[in-house]
Order: sequence, then structure tokens, then C-alpha cells
Amino acid sequence: MNTDTIKTPCYVCEEELLENNLKLLDYVQKESGAKIILALKGFAMWSTFPLVSKYLKGCTSSGLHEAKLAREEFCKFNPHAEVHTYSPAFKDEDIEEIAKISDHIVFNFPNQLFKFKERVKEINPHVELSLRINPEVSSSPKDIYNPCGIYSRLGTTLANFDERVLEHIDGLNFHALCEQNVDALEEVLVAFEEKFSKYFKGLKYINFGGGHHITKKGYDVEKLIRLIKEFKAKYDVEVYLEPGEAVGWQTGFLIATVLDVFENGMHVAILDTSAEAHMPDTLAMPYRADVRGSGEAGEKKYTYRFGGNTCLAGDIMGDYSFDAPLKIGDKIIFEDQIHYTFVKNSTFNGIKLPSLAIYRKDGVLDIVKEFGYTDYRGRLS
Ligand SMILES: *Cc1c(COP(=O)(O)O)cnc(C)c1O
Repeated sequence: MNTDTIKTPCYVCEEELLENNLKLLDYVQKESGAKIILALKGFAMWSTFPLVSKYLKGCTSSGLHEAKLAREEFCKFNPHAEVHTYSPAFKDEDIEEIAKISDHIVFNFPNQLFKFKERVKEINPHVELSLRINPEVSSSPKDIYNPCGIYSRLGTTLANFDERVLEHIDGLNFHALCEQNVDALEEVLVAFEEKFSKYFKGLKYINFGGGHHITKKGYDVEKLIRLIKEFKAKYDVEVYLEPGEAVGWQTGFLIATVLDVFENGMHVAILDTSAEAHMPDTLAMPYRADVRGSGEAGEKKYTYRFGGNTCLAGDIMGDYSFDAPLKIGDKIIFEDQIHYTFVKNSTFNGIKLPSLAIYRKDGVLDIVKEFGYTDYRGRLS
């Protein structure tokens, strides 16, 4: 791909890499019998949905806007696709529209289920209801990504479980993982079954949530398939997985341009992007994004600190080294910036949002969206 002519900043999703992920997920579906749906929270580039909807069985959404996007942009390519909608708390003003466009509604707490069950069934008699469980076991690598931590607001614990929900629900959900291998799922399943399997009788499905890093190298896909098959056989239920990150994992990059380079105790390069606004998880997780052709600080001859084009002192991507000095106008490629980036983007400090592009299998770079002043202005009032 010729990256010289790309107007930066731009996220480029590589169609072929995305399809490889989808094929692996489909293999899991076919071998295990589970249904896999896309968590829009982690990947919502709807211009790829003609492709994604060929493989995945629907979307999981948190609230009205994601549910609408799923219904409008995913289901039109796959009329059998399912829309699952969960929210920590649904609002009165949203619930009717959510009921109309959802196949499954997942409540966070028994209160919410009792409050809304009649209304949603009146509007959509086919809607299936579920309760999100907090199994209180998770080996999530960071507290901010641990839904089962102390005082968690996400899901119903055994102590808070109200058996009266059982006559109204079709399934149970849990979501307890973050970027994890199948051993972590196995641990959660042990706790989940120990506490809740007494309630499985008569349920149609159990949703194992997201955080399964299925498309990462080294993930034990065969063990996942085995666990799902055993679970399905033991309890006679459908199993859903709803990964977000695993769909967009390593499917493309964020490309930026060097705007200036100078020396202030070390070499500093200013880029036309921002860690804060465009690569939020590099600060929140935090982690260091790989840059194509670079090494660690000091590893190669020329080391630079990369900073964004905002006034936030901490808007820094990290220190990177190169074989040759950087020049103004050079392109910088941050790898693996498709999942959990533009879904969280902001126009912090008025900085321009990166365009969205798909690098097609036939070699054409398709710019599917560009942003400008009106997008920034339109988010404010
Ligand atoms: C975030 C989330 C997911 C997707 O998680 P990934 O880590 O992106 O796979 C799925 N289900 C729920 C309820 C979530 O909150």
C-alpha cells in the first residue's frame, strides 16, 4: 500500500485482516455451535458491516444509539441478524424504541427487569429477556476494565439475585473478561456454574460476554470450542459470545504526519494526531502502541518523543527510535489502532478527527468518512 498520498490523520482498516478474524470466529461458531455477535463498543465501523454480517450473527449494543446502528446498518445485510441490547440502566424515554428494534434485552438488575418487562413485551412480544449476572470472579488485568471488582455496578450478584426473575427471563448473561485467554473463561465458568447453575433449568441461552481474545496469536481456540460444547451438552442451552476487540484486533493502523521536530533535552516530534483524542486506550489502559519501522527508545540510532498536536502536556504516545532522522512531513504508522479507538474518539481541544478508510482486498484505498469543523461544532452547543 502506498501510504504517501493518504491525508492524515486517518485510521485504515485492512479488509483482508478483518476477514481473517471473521473467518476464525466463524470457525469457532461452526465447531462449537455457539453464536458470535459483535460488541459495537469495541468496533463500530459500519461501512464494514456488509462483510462482518456475512460471518457474525448480530450485534450487542449498550443503549439506544448502538441498537439503532445495529438494526439499521447490520440487519440490512443480514435479515436474520440479532440485536441484543444491554444497559446498566434503561431510561423511560428510550425503552419503547429499544423494545421495537431489539431481539434480546438484557437487564442489569432485577429492579430494571420488573420495571420494564411488561412494557417491552407489549411493544415486542418476541423480545427475549435476560439478566446480567456478576459472577464475582475475574482475572481482568486492570481494575478499570474489571466488571466484577468490588462495589461493581455491572451485573447482579448471587446475593442480589431475586428468584422471581426466573419466570420472565429466557437467558442469563455475564461479562467478566478483558483481553484474555480461555483459561480465564474457564475460571469464570466454574464460579458462574457453582453459583447459578441451579437457575439454568428452562433457559434458552447463556451469553458468555466479551473479552475473549480469540484472534490473538496463542489463543487456545480448540479449548474454547471444547468448553462451549461441554457447556451446551451439560445444560442444553444456546451459547453466545460477544467479542468486540477480537473482531477488530490487529486489523489496521492510524497514520499521522510529523509536523515539527526539535530538541529540548531530547528530540521531540509533534504529530497531527493525539494520544488523548485518537488513541485513548494508550493512556487509559495504558499501553504503548507499536510504530512501524521503530524500536524502543535508544534501541536504534535516533530516538524521539512523540506528542500530539494539543495543549495537554501529557498528550504523549511514547518514545520511539529509528535508523534515520525523522523529517517534517514523514508519515508515522501506529499499529493495531482499529478496535477501541474511533469508537471513543473525541475532538478534544478542537483537534480534527481522523478519517476512516478501508484498504480493499483489490488494493484500493476507500476513504469512507472524513470529518471537519461541522462535526466538532455539531457536538457542542
Ligand atoms: C465490552 C463488552 C463486550 C466486548 O468486550 P471485548 O473486550 O471488546 O471483547 C461484550 N459484552 C459486554 C457486556 C461488554 O461490556
